[in-house]
Amino acid sequence: MLSLHPDLRMRSVKNGDGRTVRFLGREEKRDNRRILYLFMDRPIAADDTTRFEFVYEGEIARENVGLFYVTAGAEWYPTPVERKRSTFDLSFRTPRGYAFVATGDRVGEVPIGDTIMTRWTVTRPTRNVSFAIGPMERYEFGTDRKYPVEIYFSEQLHVNLGPALIANGLTVGRHMERQVGNDLVEALHMFDTEFGPYPYERLRAAEIIAFHGEAFPGFLHMGYPTWVQTDVSGTQKVFRAHEVAHQWWGVEVGYATYRDQWLSEAFAEYSALLYLQAADGTSSMLDLLREYRDDIFSVRKYLFGSGARSGAIALGYRAHSSETEGDYNLVVYKKGAFVLHMLRSMMIDLDTMEETRFFDMLREFYATYRGRDASTHDFQVLAERYLGEDLDWFFDQWVYGSQLPEYKLRSSIEQSENGDYVVRGRIEPRGVDSSFRMVVPLVVELETGARVYRRYLVTDQRYDFEIAGLAARPEKVRLNPFEAVLAKVDQ
Ligand SMILES: [Zn+2]
Repeated sequence: MLSLHPDLRMRSVKNGDGRTVRFLGREEKRDNRRILYLFMDRPIAADDTTRFEFVYEGEIARENVGLFYVTAGAEWYPTPVERKRSTFDLSFRTPRGYAFVATGDRVGEVPIGDTIMTRWTVTRPTRNVSFAIGPMERYEFGTDRKYPVEIYFSEQLHVNLGPALIANGLTVGRHMERQVGNDLVEALHMFDTEFGPYPYERLRAAEIIAFHGEAFPGFLHMGYPTWVQTDVSGTQKVFRAHEVAHQWWGVEVGYATYRDQWLSEAFAEYSALLYLQAADGTSSMLDLLREYRDDIFSVRKYLFGSGARSGAIALGYRAHSSETEGDYNLVVYKKGAFVLHMLRSMMIDLDTMEETRFFDMLREFYATYRGRDASTHDFQVLAERYLGEDLDWFFDQWVYGSQLPEYKLRSSIEQSENGDYVVRGRIEPRGVDSSFRMVVPLVVELETGARVYRRYLVTDQRYDFEIAGLAARPEKVRLNPFEAVLAKVDQ
């Protein structure tokens, strides 16, 4: 069983001996692909090697405003329905006037008339490969760094598009290739340092006329909005870094089943937030996390008193349905990113603010599962080792579950006879079952600027606390600093 984009028509299939193989094609509209059944004259054993020659045709790239978009994404060649990692040796014949870039190493080119034949090899087994073609310029950035980044982008096209974009209320950035190139170079080197070595010599990125991005080994498709303007809120930086981070999460470390897809999407999303934190500061990252939190909390209309809910991350693409359209992105990307943020918050040393445990965990995850597919359970086992405790409760609530907690904090400050200050307070959880529990940090900000942190295990019971012996006057008591828990707080 093979799959192919429905815009493509299979003409013939031959086996290694040159004999015709009968096939049947069935379109699966829902998955936007064509399933091909091949009728073999003998069964193929598990360790057999069989050769096929496919002849198929159709439009795999569509022209739009002067650029081409590879509509078939990674479905432009016949692949087993369950994509396995494999190596590739690809040759493309393209018109000379267009820039052309594909996945892998460009190992040769031969001019043929007014066309050019280029050959690309992918020697590290991988799931998906693709290409980009169009009237694009090639730019290079980071040539003095460990890994250079190649950008395929048409500034002239954007100059032509400018008036139309402005008419639609969009401001157009200048030298977008530099802005995108800078984020790709910086994110690439940051992740290389934080997660482990990037496996390729360079990274290539091409603009596509679409909204989304898609990552292939050493190569990115990047939708046009990110080439129009860099916004102040950081979402474009996050979009760019997200696609870069897929080189580690998704391309190198794969995911075992659709239920584990958050290991690719949420990890890429949280890595991108780490990049935003490094580039624009912690407050930019926290502002975006708060937006994610509000989106997650507001998605469901819930009955009064039943508490907020959001789909389970482990549902993967099934988190969205006709009634919950945006849920795949919201749950798998954003709530998933929060899961990593919560683990990071649980691992941070609140006395020193040291974060080695969290980053060591990510490094070990990458080192262990490079070139393989990991499951949520694999990751849980690792997280348990780094936190030194069983995390069934955590994964049950946040990855397999749908509850979202709300906390109410009330506190008072008193000065004792010896001049010390004492903070007393009560934390009340709401909207969750009696079995729900979470480690929630609290911070007391003193007038000296010093901060005193505590972590409380809050269950379904109200939690009373006391922090005594504070030498300076407390100015503020805040529950859930740095959005440590995906929760709403009334304080
Ligand atoms: Zn992604």
